[in-house]
Amino acid sequence: MCGVRRCLSCGERFSPRPQNPGQRYCGKQACQQDRRRRWQDEKQRTDADYRDNHRRAQRDWTKKHGAYWRAWREKHPEYCERNRAQQEERNRRRRSAVIAKMDASEADLCVPSGVYRLLPAGGGVIAKMDAWTVKIDVIARSYADGASGGGGLQRLDVMGREDAGG
Ligand SMILES: [Zn+2]
Repeated sequence: MCGVRRCLSCGERFSPRPQNPGQRYCGKQACQQDRRRRWQDEKQRTDADYRDNHRRAQRDWTKKHGAYWRAWREKHPEYCERNRAQQEERNRRRRSAVIAKMDASEADLCVPSGVYRLLPAGGGVIAKMDAWTVKIDVIARSYADGASGGGGLQRLDVMGREDAGG
């Protein structure tokens, strides 16, 4: 049959419409979308003006879009307030989860087991006070909670006593 050709997209035979004797894609919606997409790709690749126009259109759309949501948020403050409160609640939960996960091995990073000099805090009178040399071992928090209800550090024994002023 005269005028039957294969679609460049799906490869099936079709008859060009009389109004469009140069038709290279069949009438299926997918093939027509394919045709338009290929045409745009080709334009993007070869036509600088088209590229510029396309970029400008996208920029304008983004600008308009941003203004639209800004206006929407201004008209719906209760939505934004709820959103903010929910975010704060999520942040709070994340923080407490991190603290709950901390154990002696992480406390180790801050205060390693070892021998320490113990000085009373505060004031400018330290030089006149006695210092204690103490051995501190980091133990598990759960043990410390059961034993003393305190933190993760336990003074094991006093090694000696020295005069800090000397
Ligand atoms: Zn087709």
